Amino acid sequence: MSGYRAYCAFILSLLPLWAGAFPKADPVPGGVAIIPLASSATAKPSATYDGKAVLVAEHDGQWLALIGIALGTPAGLNFVQINDNSEALLDIFPKQYVEQRITLKDNKHVDPNPKDLKRAQADKKQSDKALATLSDTNPQLDFIWPHNGPLSSPFGLQRFFNDQPRAPHSGLDIAAPQGDPIKAPAGGKVILVGDFFFNGKTVFIDHGQGLISMFCHMSKIKVSTGQEIKQGDVMGLVGKTGRATGPHIHWSLSLNNARVNPLLFLPPRP
Ligand SMILES: [Zn+2]
Repeated sequence: MSGYRAYCAFILSLLPLWAGAFPKADPVPGGVAIIPLASSATAKPSATYDGKAVLVAEHDGQWLALIGIALGTPAGLNFVQINDNSEALLDIFPKQYVEQRITLKDNKHVDPNPKDLKRAQADKKQSDKALATLSDTNPQLDFIWPHNGPLSSPFGLQRFFNDQPRAPHSGLDIAAPQGDPIKAPAGGKVILVGDFFFNGKTVFIDHGQGLISMFCHMSKIKVSTGQEIKQGDVMGLVGKTGRATGPHIHWSLSLNNARVNPLLFLPPRP
């Protein structure tokens, strides 16, 4: 390889690292659309999509809207309202996620009894409220990996438990040994902790402006509600509490209350 080509290869090898410092756009269901709003020399604009305020961040001299697109959203043209006086187009592309079939021996979490079902419904109320949090804090967007374990189940899988269709997998699973620390991918405020029927011991972090992380199945929670945490702080330990076939981290990332693929916010694997 010539010196020039080696130099080019070196520069190209750095590009994914730079790209990782800001979320990647993928305007599909379960993805994130990034829409330029205005030059960052102007005052911060506001933007809404589907009647909800969306995250606005400055990057490379521009104000950008980062919009979470919920799984199940039909492909097609949509509009984003800017400052209540103009509109931008948001073109959502289709995406087909793969299927996964899981056999669970313990039927308790497949066909819960009425008491467990009642508990699961109460859990959902609390979780839904936490995921709808909209604070003014400017979120940290250069995420880090919460753990270096292998990915065991990708975001968006169409799941079947014991052949019964279930909601698509709305998070990312990382296989990790029981008891390993789970690091906060970005700073934020702990807005809810709990021990839930399906999700087990769970921590919700508000990163700001509608960007919320939910980490599930912990063996031990190390933070408490109201606590401010920094990127890399240990939130809890890996476990398999709730509906889990083995110790792993389930991480759901929510943006304007749409569950989105956490990989879009992460740098390449360390
Ligand atoms: Zn999961």
